[in-house]
Amino acid sequence: MDLGIKDQVVIVTGGSKGIGEGICRCLADEQAIPVIIGRSPEEGNRLVEEFKSVHIDARYIFAELANLEDCKSAVQQVATTYGRINALVNNAGVNDGVGLEKGSPESFLGSLKNNLHHYYYMAHYCLPWLKKFKGSIVNISSKTALTGQGGTSAYAAAKGAQLAMTREWAVELLKYNIRVNAVVPAEVMTPLYKKWLSGFDNPPKKLESITQKIPLGNRMTTKDEMAAMVVYLLSKQASHITGQFLFVDGGYVHLDRALAGADS
Ligand code: NAP
Repeated sequence: MDLGIKDQVVIVTGGSKGIGEGICRCLADEQAIPVIIGRSPEEGNRLVEEFKSVHIDARYIFAELANLEDCKSAVQQVATTYGRINALVNNAGVNDGVGLEKGSPESFLGSLKNNLHHYYYMAHYCLPWLKKFKGSIVNISSKTALTGQGGTSAYAAAKGAQLAMTREWAVELLKYNIRVNAVVPAEVMTPLYKKWLSGFDNPPKKLESITQKIPLGNRMTTKDEMAAMVVYLLSKQASHITGQFLFVDGGYVHLDRALAGADS
């Protein structure tokens, strides 16, 4: 299947690690140009060097995405370098455990800045380019938007708002033929996930209790499985898909979690 994204410039926020890294690798496999925007320069530059060593163009641009000026400047740098932006993947986020009981109005607002505001900033600054090149947007949300998790009010609120903005932007941008979709992960092993898991008394036991409840195969979703959906949504093969929430989660959110897994 020809995805038709060769040479397309695709911004991936938080593309140095985890799901974002998986997306960048999948883009590189399709000969698109991944542009990583985030605050992990070591990992970001290492990945870019790896791509360049096999003659894949790629860039890393530093940005603390909670900072509006960083977002603006990063988008400008991409546009100046390439003269185009074909797609945006809003991916960076942190499940930072700002709860209702254990939290504060200040930390709630801080977490929204880290998790939500930059999805809007990046889309806003990319929009002129996306209009020009009939681009598309994918927002990475989270199951917590629908299932809740407990103790993470701001993160869950941000993830829910990302879904709302996905539909809102899909409607607003119909006239420009810009498609906007969301991908909703549940359980994917990444640096963020490992950190979250390490907060429990017995991480291996906790992990086992989670994977047992993932209906399809009693296993975590892989980064590659996430990335395949994102890159498909960006491609011409998804040319009539907009305003959708795609759950790449082995049935975690929608199937009955009391089910035994398919392999058991
Ligand atoms: P990850 O392993 O921590 O990778 C996220 C990347 O984004 C990191 O490089 C991180 O940098 C960067 N980042 C985060 N906030 C940033 C900011 N304000 N400015 C600049 N860079 C920032 O996380 P992941 O698990 O791949 O998560 C990716 C997305 O999937 C997130 O939106 C997350 O909410 C969502 N998600 C993940 C899961 C899962 O199971 N992993 C489940 C549901 C949803 P630092 O390392 O410096 O923080």
